[in-house]
Amino acid sequence: MRLLPRHWRVEVLWCSTSGHVTPADQVAVLRPQDDALGIDRDAGSRLCRCLRCDDWINVSNPNQPESKFLPEPDQLPRPERGKALEETLVVRGIAVIRGLHCLFFSLTVIAIIIFEWGLPGLRDEAQTLVESAGSIAESSRPGNSLLVSGLQKLSDLDAEVALRLLGLALGYAILEGVEAVYLWRGKRWAEYLTVIAIATLLPYTIYALVEKVTVFRLVGLVLELAILGYLVWTKRLFGVRGGNPALERVIDEDTDWTRLHRSAPVRPLATPKSGHPD
Ligand SMILES: [Zn+2]
Repeated sequence: MRLLPRHWRVEVLWCSTSGHVTPADQVAVLRPQDDALGIDRDAGSRLCRCLRCDDWINVSNPNQPESKFLPEPDQLPRPERGKALEETLVVRGIAVIRGLHCLFFSLTVIAIIIFEWGLPGLRDEAQTLVESAGSIAESSRPGNSLLVSGLQKLSDLDAEVALRLLGLALGYAILEGVEAVYLWRGKRWAEYLTVIAIATLLPYTIYALVEKVTVFRLVGLVLELAILGYLVWTKRLFGVRGGNPALERVIDEDTDWTRLHRSAPVRPLATPKSGHPD
């Protein structure tokens, strides 16, 4: 499943924010066999190839090189690129959504505590915050009617129900926080956790939507289904489309490092580009 237009190169986008990966810019001497990674030019500069985006970057020769020669091919950097990098970008986008949900539920936990057991002077502000949280909860967890409706009428609920609401909000904050952190770090088990959590709550989400259609519930359902579909289909969870072995084979096709380390893309010798590799 390709989410970016074909003419967009995710490697260029990534390098523009994280910097290029140019091992040739930190060695004292470039040998003839290194010409796929870097080549000396006149006036103390050299062209260094980025191993992520394949661009050639014009840099000054290093004043304090880290080593005399480039390491052996199996010691060279192997940055993510191609399909692997595109998937990392999308999964990190999902992690950001989960992180925002975690922040929202954490604030809700604090607001419930202040409203029920906190300082009387802050009770009105906490009630306003909790009541507005009910609308956002409709898109974050539309299937949980207790949480969604309870937040909107907290002042009418007894302490026991408020305690259950607190437990739910805290549980979601922890779940979304764990998903956010470990999706960002690229852990496959976090992708499974995300899918299982969505699938478990999906019947309740659909029931809530059948009961009453709101924009928040509809947006929440569409977003959750899109995340579930993307993770299962593209990340090949639960053995779908050959599972993880098939996914690794596809990614390996983009990153044949033996070939990538030895074959140079066309060098722009006529009009070199300036840049600042990391
Ligand atoms: Zn680059």
